[in-house]
Amino acid sequence: MPIDMLNKIEHLGIAVKSIEESAIMYEKLLGKPSYKTEAVESEGVSTMFFQIGESKIELLEATNPSSPIGKFIEKKGEGIHHIAYDVTDIEAELKRLKAEGFELIHETPKDGADNKRIAFLHPKSTGGVLVELCQEK
Ligand code: ZN
Repeated sequence: MPIDMLNKIEHLGIAVKSIEESAIMYEKLLGKPSYKTEAVESEGVSTMFFQIGESKIELLEATNPSSPIGKFIEKKGEGIHHIAYDVTDIEAELKRLKAEGFELIHETPKDGADNKRIAFLHPKSTGGVLVELCQEK
């Protein structure tokens, strides 16, 4: 078994209706301010990040209702949206996971927030949990 396939949980993605409103609660909960906000135009999403030890919390707010986060909020409401694993070689991991029978939402990595290359696995093939792979640029 090769080492360093999935290194750690990089972040948890949490869908919120309003980052501005949720930030107030998360700052109290986590006891610290966020270190970054960033819009990802291609995904129709605004993000806010909190660092918790080695991992992060990513708040996600839809910038338009037809974006993936907009649809998620409409269907399920606010809550945990995805779990993101840090990987060393995202292309190699996508190839490995595809060969293992996982369904890829992105066949090739794309640019995500927080200086990452990212790709998602379909929750149909991961027991209902949306999985993100991310590699530091
Ligand atoms: Zn994420």
